[in-house]
Amino acid sequence: MGVHHAWGRTYKDLFCRYHTMLGHRQRYQNGFDAQGLWVEVEVEKELGFKSKRDIERYGIAEFVERCKARVLHYAGLQTQQSLRLGYWMDWDNSYFTMSEENNYSIWLFLKRCWERGLLYKGHDVMPWCPRCSTGLSEHEIVTEGYQEVTHPSLTVRLPLRDRPGAYLLVWTTTPWTLTSNVAVAVHPELTYVRVEQGRDTYYLVRDRLEMLRGGYRVREELPGSALVGWVYTGPFDDLPAQRGVEHRVVPWRDVSAAEGTGLVHIAPGCGAEDFALGKELGLPVLAPIDEFGVFAEPYGWLAGRHVYEVGAPIRDDLEKRGLLYRAEEYTHRYPVCWRCGSELVFRLVDEWFIAMDPLRAPMMAVTEKIRWIPEFGLERELDWLKNMHDWMISKKRYWGLALPIWECRACRSFEVIGSEDELRERAVEGWDQFAGHTPHRPWIDAVKIRCPRCGGPVSRILDVGNPWLDAGIVPYSTMGYRRDRAAWREWFPADFITEAFPGQYRNWFYSMLVMSTVLENREPFRTCLGHAMVRDEQGREMHKSWGNMIEFNEAAEKMGSDVLRWLYAVQNPAMNLNFGYGPADDVRRRFILPLWNIYAFFVTYAALDGFTPEPLRDHQVALAVLRGQPSVLDRWIRALLHRLIRTVREGVDRYDVPAAARAIERFVEDLSLWYVRRGRRRYWKSERDADKQAANQTLYEVLVALSCLLAPFVPFLAEAMYQNLVRSIDTRSPESVHLCAVPAADPAADDPELVEATERTRQLVSVGRSARNAAKVRVRQPLASAIIVDRSGVLQRYPELAEHLREELNVKALRFAESYRTLGRLEVRPRFDLLGPKFGGRITEIVEALRDRGEAIVEGTQEREPFRLALARGDEVVLERTEVEVRVHWHPGLVGAGESGAWVVLDTTLTGDLVREGMARELVHQIQQLRKEAGFQIADRITLYYEGDSAVAEVLRTHGEYVLREVLGEEARAGLPPAGAPVHRKALRLDGRELTVGIAQTA
Ligand SMILES: [Zn+2]
Ligand SMILES: [Zn+2]
Repeated sequence: MGVHHAWGRTYKDLFCRYHTMLGHRQRYQNGFDAQGLWVEVEVEKELGFKSKRDIERYGIAEFVERCKARVLHYAGLQTQQSLRLGYWMDWDNSYFTMSEENNYSIWLFLKRCWERGLLYKGHDVMPWCPRCSTGLSEHEIVTEGYQEVTHPSLTVRLPLRDRPGAYLLVWTTTPWTLTSNVAVAVHPELTYVRVEQGRDTYYLVRDRLEMLRGGYRVREELPGSALVGWVYTGPFDDLPAQRGVEHRVVPWRDVSAAEGTGLVHIAPGCGAEDFALGKELGLPVLAPIDEFGVFAEPYGWLAGRHVYEVGAPIRDDLEKRGLLYRAEEYTHRYPVCWRCGSELVFRLVDEWFIAMDPLRAPMMAVTEKIRWIPEFGLERELDWLKNMHDWMISKKRYWGLALPIWECRACRSFEVIGSEDELRERAVEGWDQFAGHTPHRPWIDAVKIRCPRCGGPVSRILDVGNPWLDAGIVPYSTMGYRRDRAAWREWFPADFITEAFPGQYRNWFYSMLVMSTVLENREPFRTCLGHAMVRDEQGREMHKSWGNMIEFNEAAEKMGSDVLRWLYAVQNPAMNLNFGYGPADDVRRRFILPLWNIYAFFVTYAALDGFTPEPLRDHQVALAVLRGQPSVLDRWIRALLHRLIRTVREGVDRYDVPAAARAIERFVEDLSLWYVRRGRRRYWKSERDADKQAANQTLYEVLVALSCLLAPFVPFLAEAMYQNLVRSIDTRSPESVHLCAVPAADPAADDPELVEATERTRQLVSVGRSARNAAKVRVRQPLASAIIVDRSGVLQRYPELAEHLREELNVKALRFAESYRTLGRLEVRPRFDLLGPKFGGRITEIVEALRDRGEAIVEGTQEREPFRLALARGDEVVLERTEVEVRVHWHPGLVGAGESGAWVVLDTTLTGDLVREGMARELVHQIQQLRKEAGFQIADRITLYYEGDSAVAEVLRTHGEYVLREVLGEEARAGLPPAGAPVHRKALRLDGRELTVGIAQTA
């Protein structure tokens, strides 16, 4: 399993867990694709087989058993990996598409098709893999089967019978098909030319004269219709297969002048379009190669050679016989077998098809009833349905659904058997050999029935089914459609399916739609969530051979399943995901670690404090009644939590996982950067007052609620938090977070005004930081005051928020002003580099106008909006904000910054007291670092030693109490103890002064 498999599995698990937490009944059945060529190819590799002949020699029964064993082995591995991903399923009851129920359900479907006259045997030219010896259906090629391939391209001259020295010029990139040429096609309405080159005369379309080499003269122009009926000598008339074929020029409207010579070589046995044209015109069909791609007997010197190897010999032979005009290499997109990578050829075959024309309209109606995510899914599916051809369902292989078609060789009639019971009743031969086996080759091939027309014994056709039949029947087979229709109806249609969308509109989604339309004329699923592809970190496709593929186990080991799941959860499913350890680290840094740090912080202090949470009501996360006056922090985080619960539920309800996941990320960020950051001291303080109780209880509830919300996303992390926070103290609570209910949002907890006020306050904090940067004053240096200009007035309404802002700004006092104008002067200057070229000579007028009125204008307009500027002579210009530079000249001693009409202006005058306090704060910070380096526990108390100049002593004299309180110090002693004493010491610089401190744990 590669990491790309984990994307869909993450969704499936997430929605199942979520709906379980909502109390809904679920089907926890996982499924494994088990049949088909893709398994055969792998077993052939294991056994070193080169072709189907090796399988026949080995024995079909043994081969099929090995296919089954391989499937079971890999299903076991995938099960282990899925468990590691946290995929919650009833793993002992997985279904396999090779099960009898799956196979017989497809029989039932095919019987319905046959009864409605949809099933037929077609004689057609199909894409064919010579290595796998099987045809490929249209959708298998459209989706993944093209590669850049270089082929010899030959321009060949074909002598015209009645015009000596004159030739038709044709061009091909598949020289082997020239052996079966029967006609040359022209467009009757295009203009063709007769040209002379030396003694030779050539015909080709006028627009492609560039195909000629060397000088030429155009002698005549004529319409394509004039060439129709001309007889020419074929390129390989000497081969026995060509005996009796008369080669003619035929009309064909699909001929284009965009490529080649405008004269198209036609070999109806070697190309699908050629075949269709040949059918229309009654042309002979020559089929040169057998199922292995080897030339047949009537192809003379080519007989026994492989189609892949004849390019050069054919070129040489044509050259020798004077028919080669020109040979080149040509690179183009060419179809290859999506299983083994071999180049496909087109080959005349007998295959079985389901006619799609009668199903097209009903399938489109069914498709429109489904909700497609991303929305373009509907359009893509309908587009495919509009254009799809009949569905080829047969494969000339071994391991797969045994197509239940019994065809009488004598009278050429066929019928479809719809069940095992029907087969038993109809069997006239071979039942005993079959009984006790699964309905697979070779055992099923022994059973013969009697032909209802001629009475002769009839065998099953040897073909197996297209594996998309296996996948398409699942909504019927796994839910007991054949056994118990009422029980099946309870679950049908499926609420939700998911898969990587590239390809599936033509494969799995499509096959389910076909089968469900035939069986019940109903949608097999209500919602289809398609997701894009997993790429590597650089956005390249992942390939084993490129060395950039990441195996699931490796990713789970290195980044952890929760991180991996979160990567998928936040991703927009319509876009490819660039997967790797870089993005995983980002998830860890951005989300997992902040969350874990908050959790660890809470657990540490709650344990120190002996905090006992109030029990959760009915095991649900609900608001405990807070005694006293809850702080703005508690009220704010509760409001956000309940908004989050609503957002997550709404998101997951509508299958919008990233909307839910991103909201959780934002919440954790708010929790970490404001609630915990601002509230840290409430947990530290030694008094056990109501505020501390409220802080603990609130953070407790937030974390419990988060564990429940996170459970479907990151099941391991959520469970670890829940077990410790809830189960360890309340044994009556649900055994696992995954058995809890999804938290319910409580509208009463919301407080829009407070949420907005807090938002504004945080914005002012950030503006204040910009001001500090501009003033180049250290964060820990207290300042006397900050002047706030903010028309919203939130700080006056919420004095608690003003206090948080004051602390964040590290100022002694906040003052308020109506406008920054009393504090400084705003200057608006034009950017000459931009305005010069735009306005030329008028620039001087603009400079003047900006000087006079710039300040008023800039104040009165929004930050990113253009503004009008009246000029002296009465006209006006419109300027972009980017075309002017706005500077504020603050009064001496002030430095400020502003954003969206809010200003924070700092008084930067430092007094001796402020400097000492700044040093005290810096000292606290350094001692805290030293405590960490020394490995002290957070509750350990210390004795502080120091040695420095008189200024340092002065700091400790004036602020010693503060320093000791902050660092849990018992006392501060001047002078260091003798070396060797158990003291951790460190040399520091404090405001440019040298100082040594030491700390020792107090007994
Ligand atoms: Zn193949
Ligand atoms: Zn018959």
